[in-house]
Amino acid sequence: MNIKPLCNHKSMLGEGPVWDAANHTIFWVDIMGCAIHALDMKSHALRSISTPSMIGSFALCSDGNIIAALQDGFAFINKNTREINAIGDPEKHLKGNRFNDGKTDPAGRFWAGSMSLNGEKGTGNLYMVDEQLQVKKQIENVSISNGLCWSLDHRFFYYIDTPTMEVVRYDYDNATGEISNKTTVISIPAKEGYPDGMTIDSEGMLWIAHWEGWQVARWDPSTGNKIDAIHLPVSLVTSICFGGENMDEMFITSARVGLTDEQLAEEPLAGSSFIISKTGFKGFTFPAFNLSQQ
Ligand code: CA
Repeated sequence: MNIKPLCNHKSMLGEGPVWDAANHTIFWVDIMGCAIHALDMKSHALRSISTPSMIGSFALCSDGNIIAALQDGFAFINKNTREINAIGDPEKHLKGNRFNDGKTDPAGRFWAGSMSLNGEKGTGNLYMVDEQLQVKKQIENVSISNGLCWSLDHRFFYYIDTPTMEVVRYDYDNATGEISNKTTVISIPAKEGYPDGMTIDSEGMLWIAHWEGWQVARWDPSTGNKIDAIHLPVSLVTSICFGGENMDEMFITSARVGLTDEQLAEEPLAGSSFIISKTGFKGFTFPAFNLSQQ
């Protein structure tokens, strides 16, 4: 496999890659660097948008702008003027939390979860923002809200609360966004590293980035088995998405936060975002956040 850093830029905590097929651009966030980065894969120009607080995740909107989960709540960010318009903060009362991983569902609603800034357990939640900009709590008592994706037939929602070392599955109603019937489908041995970001491929298999695991791994949610893995030259692998002309390239983010000088010498590419071309697997872009009702 041909694994290359996308560019020289290194994030402190790179996360949340999003492929913008229309503009041949890969986006990702640096949560602690308070920025969205966008690399045009044709011109190789890197653009960055600073955010006023830590950005957990974002999605592209149907009007080409951005919906973001910032430390102080959900907001729209104008990609050109960089103007920020607040949508709402469901965690105004939880000053010790910040937002983390997020993604659009098959109907174009934006989901993002939260976590404690100081490692406190169970203070996080997962929320959904619908096309009316109503924010609804979907899951509570989460510790580190992370990977999320939906099955190809839209019947299931898969979710990772990192310290549980599990992937859970909920029945999912695409008309309403309601989830029910939580079931554990994958239990991850400690030696694999913590499960972080996640995506799904065209065969319905889950690709998980493993924090402290030096890998992205392919897991079968119907058996719970690990069926493939790609080793990376960095330990803190944070998230993954598919992209490219044929949707057969992988984009993978990583982090350097908390690594010692010794560790950084061992993994000088820590914090890079990577591209793996000709993976032999295919995936999907996420739908744009649906602004049609605005
Ligand atoms: Ca994450």
